[in-house]
Amino acid sequence: MTATDLRKLVTGPVIGPDDAEYDDARRVYNFMIEARPHAIVRCASAEDVQAAVSHAVATRHDVAVRGGGHSVPGFGTADDAIVVDLSGMTSVVVDPANRIARAGGGATWSMMNDATMAHGLATTGGVVGSTGVGGLTLGGGIGYLTRAHGLSCDNLISAQVVLADGSIVTASETSHPDLFWALRGGGGNFGVVTEFTFRLHPVPENIYGGLILFEREAAGDLFRYFDRFIDDAPREYGGYPAWHLAPPLPFIPADRVGEPFPVLVSCWTGGHEEGAKILQDFRDVGPVMAEHVGAIPYTALNTLFDPLLPRGLQHYWKSVFVGDLTDDVIAIHTEHAQRMPAVNCAVHLYPVNGAAHDVAPDATAWGHRDVKYVNVLAGMWPDPADNAANTAWVKDYYAALAPHSPAGGYVNFASGDDQAKVRDNFGAGYGRLARIKGQYDPGNVFHVNQNIVPA
Ligand SMILES: Cc1cc2nc3c(=O)[nH]c(=O)nc-3n(C[C@H](O)[C@H](O)[C@H](O)COP(=O)(O)OP(=O)(O)OC[C@H]3O[C@@H](n4cnc5c(N)ncnc54)[C@H](O)[C@@H]3O)c2cc1C
Repeated sequence: MTATDLRKLVTGPVIGPDDAEYDDARRVYNFMIEARPHAIVRCASAEDVQAAVSHAVATRHDVAVRGGGHSVPGFGTADDAIVVDLSGMTSVVVDPANRIARAGGGATWSMMNDATMAHGLATTGGVVGSTGVGGLTLGGGIGYLTRAHGLSCDNLISAQVVLADGSIVTASETSHPDLFWALRGGGGNFGVVTEFTFRLHPVPENIYGGLILFEREAAGDLFRYFDRFIDDAPREYGGYPAWHLAPPLPFIPADRVGEPFPVLVSCWTGGHEEGAKILQDFRDVGPVMAEHVGAIPYTALNTLFDPLLPRGLQHYWKSVFVGDLTDDVIAIHTEHAQRMPAVNCAVHLYPVNGAAHDVAPDATAWGHRDVKYVNVLAGMWPDPADNAANTAWVKDYYAALAPHSPAGGYVNFASGDDQAKVRDNFGAGYGRLARIKGQYDPGNVFHVNQNIVPA
């Protein structure tokens, strides 16, 4: 069977190795991934997805599902696989009266935020606009609204899913509730979600926030202050402490560009005066090197990092969960973050308390409701010649932090070499996930992911 045969089965474009676009279409966001799939099916409808999955099963091809394509291990492509590419299914329809939005399986967070914020509404999404709604939501979903409204998956009302047997079902609290439970944290293991329905919340057009870069000697005090503050901070605060190399931006003194700095990234959705006071308290903690803070459109904050992170960089990431920021943990960050090799790299510690802790640990497949922070060590750099240096930086940093961290890490930040950690990453719900996988995908058709083996 060739791409030509597949074309007869679907309405969207099919790209095979003989096509001029193949070399671009086979690639995902992380250019370290070099896979050469059998064909890429740019599905235009749930029926196209159905046909592509059924055809892959019948012809014994692996299925790789691509939403936004941001998976760092490159799960949106695979050698000799049929790629179910959802990038043609990106419509976002907002029902402002009922505060819900329906997003196509391939929509990105920019598309989602632009559509919902036109009505002053949003749901929790990622901090980079080009990340897919699909993979991010199915693995949990952390962003500026986590403390106010929970994870992205906590805001899911229902999902339309193409299952491994080719059938199309709707999963919700009342329809296939076991599948709905598994979709909220179990990743892409259970089927292809062609449409997500989300609950929305009022968010001001302009939030108060931005970036404050502190001098390095303030790092310990900043992290300690943040750790105390976030325990019972108002839920309108959705920021996080971070480390970055100063990028060449107008508000950064030219002679400080490229130096590592502890950073406070802030999003305050309450009144601006109160937000300004909270950020002043942070400024008082230590000397500030530079800042870009004020009234910022919520949509702009959510794309602030996008220029640093174009498609085509090399990526290698690790993640740990973190409880309180102890002196040991802060010392490890201070030591390793200062060796950050490239300006695109990021170390972010996202608080996942507040509304995310209101949800019972067994209410969704994302069970880590006692974790205080999800910490990502994101190695991102442009030149493949620097692969060894950057992956070594991430691995060394991770090795230092792991003994101080609870078991597991956020599945959406895990690497391709983290399969051995899959049970810990999915946590206490793994057994139930494996049973549901056995029910909905006994042949493990959807295995190009952080894989749950069917029970
Ligand atoms: C630059 C960058 C920034 C990020 N920022 C955040 C952040 O702020 N918060 C956060 O929580 N995570 C963040 N992530 C991690 C992100 O959640 C994961 O990379 C996620 O897998 C991306 O989803 P995607 O749809 O873009 O990726 P893809 O590579 O398309 O998919 C990832 C996985 O999900 C599956 N999948 C995707 N869509 C569907 C679907 N519709 N139906 C079924 N399965 C599907 C795929 O098969 C694959 O296994 C970020 C990642 C990157 C690279």
